[in-house]
Amino acid sequence: MDKKEFKKFGYEFVDWVADYLDNVGEYPVCPDVNPGEIKKELPEQAPNKGEPMDKIFKDFKSKIFPGMTHWQHPSWFAYFPANNSPPSVLAELLTAGMGAQCMIWKTSPAAAELEEVVMEWLRGMLGLPKEMVGVIQDTASASSLVALLTAREKTTGFSSNIKGVKDPLVVYCSEEVHSSVEKGAKIAGFGKENIRIISTDKDFALIPEELEKAILEDRNKGFKPCCVIATSGTTSSSAIDPLDEIGEICGRHHIWLHVDAAYAGTAAVLPEKRWVLKGVEYADSFVFNPHKWMLTNFDCSAYFVKDPEALVRTFEIHPEYLKTGVDSEVKNFRDWGVALGRRFRALKLWFVLRYYGIEGIQEMVRKHIKLAQFFKGQVEDSEHFELMAPVPLSLVCFRLNDGRSQDELDKINRKLLEEVNQTGKLHVTHTTLKGKYVIRMCIASRTTQEQDVKNAWKIIKEKAEQILTEPSI
Ligand SMILES: *Cc1c(COP(=O)(O)O)cnc(C)c1O
Repeated sequence: MDKKEFKKFGYEFVDWVADYLDNVGEYPVCPDVNPGEIKKELPEQAPNKGEPMDKIFKDFKSKIFPGMTHWQHPSWFAYFPANNSPPSVLAELLTAGMGAQCMIWKTSPAAAELEEVVMEWLRGMLGLPKEMVGVIQDTASASSLVALLTAREKTTGFSSNIKGVKDPLVVYCSEEVHSSVEKGAKIAGFGKENIRIISTDKDFALIPEELEKAILEDRNKGFKPCCVIATSGTTSSSAIDPLDEIGEICGRHHIWLHVDAAYAGTAAVLPEKRWVLKGVEYADSFVFNPHKWMLTNFDCSAYFVKDPEALVRTFEIHPEYLKTGVDSEVKNFRDWGVALGRRFRALKLWFVLRYYGIEGIQEMVRKHIKLAQFFKGQVEDSEHFELMAPVPLSLVCFRLNDGRSQDELDKINRKLLEEVNQTGKLHVTHTTLKGKYVIRMCIASRTTQEQDVKNAWKIIKEKAEQILTEPSI
């Protein structure tokens, strides 16, 4: 592709993306496609001869785009968000243009140094302990895996890397922990049976006394307590585990404490919400996702550790072909995680933090929290709805309840979710809390306005009224 053609399509694509971001609210949030439908439209083999860009772009618009889910939709209330923003998208264009590879300092010095700078900015913005040092990982799942591996090495005096895992090491987390922790514990060689699931209180937060009891029991039986994973902002209900009490227990028993704040970490940019990280000074490692609630398009996960030496000692490799003369003076981030090759994620984060500023991000987070509190009020004031968990931030868990049996309630709420989502006008997802089917409404998309939340509530209420008047299902 010559420069002229590149520019022609480059300008066209930027126009397309700008219009898309403007109009995204007009599409059904989820595409109406059946499994296999899109694959069927596409050739089984790559073309022998190159094809013209206008034809490729046309097929993108007619075959691929209609099968996409619109995560940037103003009525995206599902899961947690994966926000992008125009400055972040523009930075990604520059990154792709440079084709940067950031495995070590030498392979992209500015990328390595900018990563140090933006992580230091984030540390300050969230009020994390001064001694914490940051690195960007792809996802919170990978960050938690890195934490588990480092905890494993530290607990075994760095011998598991040499001899394999010999000790019966144990991981502790609450029943509300993210599924990535089980995955990570399996990958890191702990084994699923060595994950202790600690029960939660009425607000779905880990009970510290239960944690300590489990640790002592394991010690008595000859197991080695290794790592506790606490969550600030659980995925199901945004419950906040008591980090200070958990941290105190970890300190006494010399157990690695990893804090997963993938979604809720961003809220700590607000002085009035800093408490969501109360006790984080006890943490050995901490993760939150700028790719969720901080306008940096996927992927970008911010991982912080207190003891970077233990981290590097867990991951470092010294093949001859990667040795450089400056290794002792710089950070080679290949030794700070699983992958060797690394994308230039710091650039988009730098663009976002500079473009919006701390105040811009605070303003957005405050707005989302306010809208969620408004929605919570609607639920509470409504005869047939009930709130199913506290709403410390911007996630509201609720269900329809007209006094039927538990089974029947699960059924009508499942039906409500389906019918609401079928309108295409909004997207919400579900979870279960203590066995009960619950609808999750997370208000954290950059494009969401008050009217979108009001419309969502109106649709939910209308569908609920219909369901309640139907004969029992
Ligand atoms: C979203 C989420 C994760 C997983 O994040 P990825 O970056 O997709 O791996 C982990 N923990 C919690 C609490 C989450 O909300």
